[in-house]
Amino acid sequence: MLVVRTCSEMQVWRASLGHATRVAFVPTMGYLHEGHLSLLREARRRGDRLVLSIFVNPTQFGPNEDLARYPRDEAGDLAKASECGVDVAFCPTDPRELYPHGTNTWVEVQELDRHLCGASRPGHFRGVCTVVAKLWGLVRPDVALFGEKDFQQLAILRRMHADLFLGGEVVGMPIVREPDGLAMSSRNANLSSEARAQALAISRWLASVRQRFAAGERDAAALLGDPAAALAPGRIDYASLVDADDLQPVTEVVRPALCAVAAFFGGVRLIDNTVLRP
Ligand code: AMP
Repeated sequence: MLVVRTCSEMQVWRASLGHATRVAFVPTMGYLHEGHLSLLREARRRGDRLVLSIFVNPTQFGPNEDLARYPRDEAGDLAKASECGVDVAFCPTDPRELYPHGTNTWVEVQELDRHLCGASRPGHFRGVCTVVAKLWGLVRPDVALFGEKDFQQLAILRRMHADLFLGGEVVGMPIVREPDGLAMSSRNANLSSEARAQALAISRWLASVRQRFAAGERDAAALLGDPAAALAPGRIDYASLVDADDLQPVTEVVRPALCAVAAFFGGVRLIDNTVLRP
């Protein structure tokens, strides 16, 4: 496995490949867990060469967010990457590598970012789109894989990919959970054991929404129930039902809908979701 530190090295490696070589790409912020590894294994199957990027992208963090606290373990990540058959791990050591002229160029997808994380984290998806567009230009993947755990991110990146004619294909992958239901996340490492136990309320609440839906309920308010009570003592950022395509709020589920939640447990912001299909 080649560990690449600079954009120019990345471009040289990419340019050395023949046209028939299929490149699969998994962008991450590192601290790899089984969710990331599921993407890498599927990517390995879909490409002749597998590129992983590990970059904690500063432009997608707000000023009062957890950039400094974001967990990091490059040595551990590289060992896992190697086991998954990664050919190139792109790990820029310095953010300036990806932002050589600062942040004058932005990529922004509008409308899809109006609700959910887009509403509570202004500028977040602009940072995500900008860095993924940059990485796409460097890696020029035939296929890039993203998790449905970040459902709004996936929807926004699909739109960016289509609108900018980036080439290749975007593939979404299902949420990987811990055996007790907690969605895997690098941020879970920042949970105290007490907050970790309390955070199980998220997947339990999503299961209760699914149950009401399976029993025939279609009214959004009735499906959501009382999320504040269900997630207590977690502090809710949002708990919403939106259309699964345009991500705008719905009052009734007549087409596939996304039930999405973000909540703080012990100061750690966790997100999760489930799709309801009539
Ligand atoms: P991150 O390192 O958190 O930016 O995540 C990198 C990629 O892994 C994104 O496409 C995420 O959606 C995906 N991912 C993160 N957690 C999970 C999970 N529990 N299941 C599936 N994919 C995930």
